[in-house]
Amino acid sequence: MKVIILGAGVVGVTSAWYLREAGHEVTVVERQPGPGLETSFANGGQISVSHAEPWSNPAALLQILKWLGRQDAPLLFRPRADLAQWLWGARFLFECLPRRARANARQILSLALYSAGELRSLRQKTAIAYDELTRGILSFYADQREFERAAVLADSMRAWGCARDIKSVAECVAIEPALREAGPRLAGGIFAPGDESGDAHVFTQKLAALCAERGVDFRFLHSVRRLHAAGGRIAGVEVGEPQRGAQVLSADCYVVALGSYSAPLLRGAGIPIPVYPVKGYSVTLLVGPQHDAPSVSLTDEAHRLVVSRLGQRLRIAGTAELAGYDNEINRLRCEAIMQRAFELFPRAGDRDRAEFWAGLRPATPGNVPLIGRTRYSNLFLNTGHGTLGWTLACGSGRAITDLVSGSRPEVDFGFL
Ligand SMILES: Cc1cc2nc3c(=O)[nH]c(=O)nc-3n(C[C@H](O)[C@H](O)[C@H](O)COP(=O)(O)OP(=O)(O)OC[C@H]3O[C@@H](n4cnc5c(N)ncnc54)[C@H](O)[C@@H]3O)c2cc1C
Repeated sequence: MKVIILGAGVVGVTSAWYLREAGHEVTVVERQPGPGLETSFANGGQISVSHAEPWSNPAALLQILKWLGRQDAPLLFRPRADLAQWLWGARFLFECLPRRARANARQILSLALYSAGELRSLRQKTAIAYDELTRGILSFYADQREFERAAVLADSMRAWGCARDIKSVAECVAIEPALREAGPRLAGGIFAPGDESGDAHVFTQKLAALCAERGVDFRFLHSVRRLHAAGGRIAGVEVGEPQRGAQVLSADCYVVALGSYSAPLLRGAGIPIPVYPVKGYSVTLLVGPQHDAPSVSLTDEAHRLVVSRLGQRLRIAGTAELAGYDNEINRLRCEAIMQRAFELFPRAGDRDRAEFWAGLRPATPGNVPLIGRTRYSNLFLNTGHGTLGWTLACGSGRAITDLVSGSRPEVDFGFL
């Protein structure tokens, strides 16, 4: 079959890989000059099966109230005259109900476990290298009550198949010695030995190159404008290109993987989806022999920050801002991330040459991605991966390939 994928982020490119492996003729349309240049560019780098619990959970409400009005708050709501934003916010509150949060965590965990396995197989098959580290993820807590709540959750996650071990502060420091100075301020940690980290952008670029070698046709600098529907099917996708202007590309099937921009495109085709951009920031530091930076991937639960060592760089990422499609870099928020990084690791890296970045997570209120067929029989979605797009990309790419090919994915997940 001929398949057109819209978007060459980590989700679009992994979809292209698996669809090509399954024998389909694949074209990828992307507005940027290369793959992975938007949200997949400088994320936290974690392959974090252990972070399956969505932000929308019963404890989130109290946390959000505590942070209200603080410009450097890890979670910031900037109200706009935008109905989509308010509807998304209301759905987020609904997804915080204990029953909903539990069901969402379970679905995400199932897909994340599957995805991590697919990533390992892909790595074995292609020898793709992307500054990956398979040393687990250590989440640490400064607050005793939060630590105790997390320990209870870790028990249920373990029962669902995700290894998470509760660690004392001394054990945390033994796992990651760079935590030694922060140790006295910590309550404890939870270690997920099976988790990994790596550079999502390097991975996306390299996988796109492998796809191209196998015949995938990438159309960069092509902007998707609208979908043309006829008789319950999509007849073509209108794209704009600087040299040739507008043209319509046609295929047997279409996969929408436009990240946060999936929502406005689909709204134009009469398919409203609950995907809204949730902005996050990252700071990347160069690490030399004179520095003392962590190498085990970490999560600072008190500040909702993740830390990943990517070769000679240290990436610290996090915070969430509900502010529409504005992806400008707010220096105040980046400085807050950097300050926290140096509080934890006083010799983390080169502060003067820090790089700041902002990206828009394509978030659904419960953080469960939208994967599967729409009411147009040949239009598929692979979008809405929120905080976990890198973690879930390979499994989602493999699953959408099965669905497009007419077979049942191997993973237990609520496909559309
Ligand atoms: C600060 C931060 C930290 C994060 N940390 C982690 C982490 O540690 N682990 C994890 O698993 N996830 C993490 N994430 C989430 C992860 O980065 C995203 O879920 C993931 O990158 C989404 O991938 P995507 O392919 O769906 O979207 P994108 O990467 O945004 O790809 C969509 C593509 O569509 C293209 N596009 C959009 N509109 C058009 C159009 N009209 N025409 C043509 N092309 C178009 C874009 O250029 C883009 O290339 C983090 C995100 C942020 C912001």
